Amino acid sequence: MTDTIKEVDADARVLRTLDRARLRGIQTPQAFTFDALLAAHRKAAAASRDDFTDDAALAEWAGMTVSVFEGDADNVKLTNPEDFSRIEARELAALGDVRTGNGYDVHAFAEGDHVWLGGVKIAHERALSGHSDADAGLHALVDAILGALADGDIGAHFPPSDPKWKGASSDRFLRFAVERVRARGGRVVHLDLTIVCEAPKIGPHRDAMRARIAEIAGLSIDRVGVKATTSEKLGFTGRREGIAAFATATVRLPWSAP
Ligand code: MG
Repeated sequence: MTDTIKEVDADARVLRTLDRARLRGIQTPQAFTFDALLAAHRKAAAASRDDFTDDAALAEWAGMTVSVFEGDADNVKLTNPEDFSRIEARELAALGDVRTGNGYDVHAFAEGDHVWLGGVKIAHERALSGHSDADAGLHALVDAILGALADGDIGAHFPPSDPKWKGASSDRFLRFAVERVRARGGRVVHLDLTIVCEAPKIGPHRDAMRARIAEIAGLSIDRVGVKATTSEKLGFTGRREGIAAFATATVRLPWSAP
């Protein structure tokens, strides 16, 4: 024990200070001979004893000899909700290689009555044309994540020449990119998307997009930004010929030397 340990009464008054040189904090897992431990548990059940706080205490009660050995300070016991948030914060902080990637995508308007944008279906007088569902928002996010990983682009992983991706729902592309990060021991920690078009209006769908993107990427919604702008009637977006999307992804990976 590195802490000083005191015995107190019900009024929090110290009764005495224990000799910490003779004390040990006990962790799990603990190791036993199976047959002996099973017999001890059966003996405890028969005696209606259910007040042991670990297997070792039960083994001691049953008359077994219990020895201690050196534990691991990183083996933190998870009991209360704050224990989980503390360990999650520690694990995230250990991902010291913080990277950003950007993505850009465009799809042209075609005949149709709805568009897919940011993983949300929006009724519109036109559709977006493309090999998949033409969700320029999700595609830009995929490229942003792949950019942070320096791992090619969406076209390299899902070639438009492959009939497999015809009409594909783009959530699978985003899920794939997030999985590429996880496979390297990392986490996507923030996604930001800007959609450029005159119509449809994005504002009414902003929170639905944020929620859907957060769900696909396994993020809390406060880590997903969706913004929209027109291009003041300038250029192809201004002429309502198509929709453009820009995205930024922030990714944390285990540290490696640049
Ligand atoms: Mg695209």
